[in-house]
Amino acid sequence: MAVPYAKLTDTPPSSTGYGQAPPYPTYATGQPNYPHPQGQPQYPGYPPQGGAPQGYPPQGGVPQGYPPQGGAPLGYPPQGGAAGQGYPPTDGGNVQAVDNPTWEGEVPDDDVEDNPNVQAPQPTAPPAEKMDQVSGYDNMQGAPLPPPSYNEAMMQSSYPEQSEVTPNMPTITEDQARDALLQHVSENCCYGAKAARELSFSNIMPSNAFHYILDTFTEKRSTKWAQEPYHGQPIDGPYNGPAPGPWQIEARQPPPFTAQVTHVEVPHTASVKPCHDCLGLGRKRCYHCYGRGRTRCTHCHGRGHHTHYHEGRHERRQCHFCHGWGRKRCFLCHGHGHVVCRTCNGRCQLKCFIRLTIEWIVHHDDHIVERTALPDTLIRGVSGETVFNQQHPRVMPITHFPDNNINQASHTLIQRHNTAYAMERILMQRHSVRVIPVTNLHCNWKSESFSYFVYGFEHRVHAPDYPQQCCCGCSIL
Ligand SMILES: [Zn+2]
Ligand SMILES: [Zn+2]
Ligand SMILES: [Zn+2]
Repeated sequence: MAVPYAKLTDTPPSSTGYGQAPPYPTYATGQPNYPHPQGQPQYPGYPPQGGAPQGYPPQGGVPQGYPPQGGAPLGYPPQGGAAGQGYPPTDGGNVQAVDNPTWEGEVPDDDVEDNPNVQAPQPTAPPAEKMDQVSGYDNMQGAPLPPPSYNEAMMQSSYPEQSEVTPNMPTITEDQARDALLQHVSENCCYGAKAARELSFSNIMPSNAFHYILDTFTEKRSTKWAQEPYHGQPIDGPYNGPAPGPWQIEARQPPPFTAQVTHVEVPHTASVKPCHDCLGLGRKRCYHCYGRGRTRCTHCHGRGHHTHYHEGRHERRQCHFCHGWGRKRCFLCHGHGHVVCRTCNGRCQLKCFIRLTIEWIVHHDDHIVERTALPDTLIRGVSGETVFNQQHPRVMPITHFPDNNINQASHTLIQRHNTAYAMERILMQRHSVRVIPVTNLHCNWKSESFSYFVYGFEHRVHAPDYPQQCCCGCSIL
């Protein structure tokens, strides 16, 4: 149950545990004895009574370290808590601290611990049942919305196949193969170059790798309720007409095969509602002091004094940090006991509307046909010659490529793409075939024989068996 603030203010700090304390010595300065003769100690300075200059708040009226840097609510305190006009008034300025909190909700019976790292609660979304029913918008959980069905007849129209001829790829010479290996050795600091310089080639086996690539560019749409503080911005509500369907809303599409996300307010779905989080007050109980406007002094643990053992007796000294008050004003609400509501930003009202999220996605797939011991994945990173390249709203599988593995991969991947993204609208597809030269070189050096690969137009080298992989070629005597 809430304790009246006046009582809190007048009650001296708890002296629990000090009931049998020895008499307090008279202060050397000749100040009156402590405690006060009537047994009701007066804590000098708080609250400041009729011009007592010392004590709390510190001289100059600006308490030390207060207000805290950053995070201070704007425009504190409210004037009369005018609901509907927003809280606090927009005239942001100096924070005025008060001694008596005005929070009228529930507060704990005791001061809470000061927690300088307290986290502000996050804005919350209104409960779903408070939202309006909008025709055509039943799925408001952010799940993808099924796109309208295609005109399949249009999509299935066939395109003339391009000539799919495997070009005559240039074969590399022995000098090129040796230069590529020397370059590879120089990039590996431990490798010795002697073997690359001295080796002799026993066999050069050129071949081609094929790289089929399929990209499908799609659009995905989903809807969710959204809210923002209402500050008088235009409201496009149901009175302007029925909301258009989620796939009827026009959006500026990025260039094909560009991933992007955009958000659109669905027309005619907006309304103004009182903030569910603060019940339209614009402010909430302070999450640091829980409405009490103050927290327990961490230095004296709320007692207002420290006890010292001095020359054989206990001495009680007033706490310097709270000046005997045992508490300090809450740094967050400056003593008011309430802070601005984060959900409505103190505006008391929310603009609620349906937000359409549009995602443009590029689905990428590929297939590599490579018949040597070279790891297939290396093919992706090098250039070759593109012998086939097509882009259409829907592409047809390749059927006449000389290597049938590519025809099969094309068929499989296109089939997969055309069924895997049922909740997205396919806007464009493209596929291509690259031919990458791969040369397997068998060679001898000293008594050893080994092989390595030169692949891609860059003449990149894959030589896991290179004999001189240790410093100074020490693995070979
Ligand atoms: Zn507070
Ligand atoms: Zn203290
Ligand atoms: Zn609010």
